[in-house]
Amino acid sequence: MGLGGMDTMLANRNCRMGFCNGAAVATLDNQALCLNHFLSRCYEKLEKLEPRGRKFSSEPVDLTSMRAFIEECSRKALDISLHSQSLTNLQRGRLLDILLWAGELFLLLRAPRLTLAQSIASSDEHFAASAASPNF
Ligand SMILES: [Zn+2]
Repeated sequence: MGLGGMDTMLANRNCRMGFCNGAAVATLDNQALCLNHFLSRCYEKLEKLEPRGRKFSSEPVDLTSMRAFIEECSRKALDISLHSQSLTNLQRGRLLDILLWAGELFLLLRAPRLTLAQSIASSDEHFAASAASPNF
């Protein structure tokens, strides 16, 4: 019983961002976040992972943790959109946007050496062959 408040971690979580005291709807990277901060955190991180717009970055690319983040954020976004009662249309739109973007990034990261243009070109080339093969 040393530190009061430790046990509120799971039961009664509040957003951990700055001075925001909003009710947490999800955790991301083990941080409890309110809906608005969840959305902005997702956007922020997805933007960093976006391979198509990426400037040369000195940070090493860790595909495993990138995939883990993408999975986590899409799972949580889906969860929130299914279980939150009081979403505004804007918030729903953003959750959907995050889901779609995360799904797209996940596919791009499966073939990190291909640019989008290249993968479109090569799927054209092999159109006849891939039509017969289970390529999904
Ligand atoms: Zn917040």
